[in-house]
Amino acid sequence: MTDIGILKQRAIQAVDARRDELIRISTTIHANPEVAFQEFQAAALLCDALQAGGFQVARGIAGLDTAFRAERRGSGDGPTIAFLAEYDALPELGHACGHNIMGTAAVGAALALAAVLDQLPGRVVVIGTPAEEGGGGKVLLVERGVFADVDAAMIVHPSARTMVARGSLASMRLVFEFTGKASHAAAAPEEGINALEAVILTFNNVNALRLHLKPDARVHGIITHGGSAANIIPEYAAAQFSVRAAKQMYARHVLERVTQCAEAGATATGATLKTTLKMGYAEMIPNLTLAHAFAANWEMLGILVNEPRWGEPMGSTDMGNVSHAVPAIHPYIYIGDFAGHTPEFRDAAIAPAAHAGLLQAAKGMAMTAVDLLSDPDLMARVQREFADTVRA
Ligand SMILES: [Zn+2]
Ligand SMILES: [Zn+2]
Repeated sequence: MTDIGILKQRAIQAVDARRDELIRISTTIHANPEVAFQEFQAAALLCDALQAGGFQVARGIAGLDTAFRAERRGSGDGPTIAFLAEYDALPELGHACGHNIMGTAAVGAALALAAVLDQLPGRVVVIGTPAEEGGGGKVLLVERGVFADVDAAMIVHPSARTMVARGSLASMRLVFEFTGKASHAAAAPEEGINALEAVILTFNNVNALRLHLKPDARVHGIITHGGSAANIIPEYAAAQFSVRAAKQMYARHVLERVTQCAEAGATATGATLKTTLKMGYAEMIPNLTLAHAFAANWEMLGILVNEPRWGEPMGSTDMGNVSHAVPAIHPYIYIGDFAGHTPEFRDAAIAPAAHAGLLQAAKGMAMTAVDLLSDPDLMARVQREFADTVRA
């Protein structure tokens, strides 16, 4: 067996040796779901495990209380490999995206790598990234320079299918608020300006627009305020829209068109429109060189990788923004035959298959970090692909 093979074997054993501890962390986070930027218990739990494992931990970084950075150095100068942790829950649904597994897998990978880091140059860091489900913790961390010294980044998401090189859609969120004029809906409707009608027109205009959008575009919205009583002409009404596309540039174009739909609704009704642009997520550009190395490691563990075909539907993640800053991958590990953001997926996220997926995710990241730290040629190829595809 090669030296690299021995190091990987030791990393795998280190994950297995911590099996009970990792499962305990994952189930504890799952049992205490905390939403965007409120993940205090989860962040503390992950930080405590890293600190106990010999990592230097900075809790609350870049102005975000629930973000963190943990670092441990190898035997000399070399690249910095980042394992990313997510640990936020969904409002009301709890951990229906399985981020309890993601945060724990990053910690498991880091602790496993720590077991062999005396044989490797470079550094391993764990970056705790809050608010993936809304708020875009990674967008803020990228903007605030947290990835400036990172050479490659990995994160693994639980899923109904195991994939390594999957991308994600660029995504933007918009809030439209219409203000009209209240009036008695039966006695004096001519006095009123109907803000709800402006919202309804916005939806109808968007539906008229759909035919003219490229197939990768997604526009979906909800009405958050529609008036207070049927006998009052609604003075205030509001809607939230999400706009997505394969590339950020086209998503911006669609966003402009959707905004025009709202403006037309305002013009037609006489309401005034206030548009607020929320956080935008860039499309995920997986580093294929890194993805191949990662997939080879999972295959070595007997895990079947089933990459998506072109045109298959995708979601969005703030890992997209990371992939524009440093070479990155966002693989998915099978934990059960359920769609994300459902109560079924939430329950699956602490079932035996989820625990198995958690260990597989940790092992895949640790093994790939061994590859990157021990093979300067691989690291150079990863960097070159990044320079050619993302930076170009
Ligand atoms: Zn999600
Ligand atoms: Zn998720």
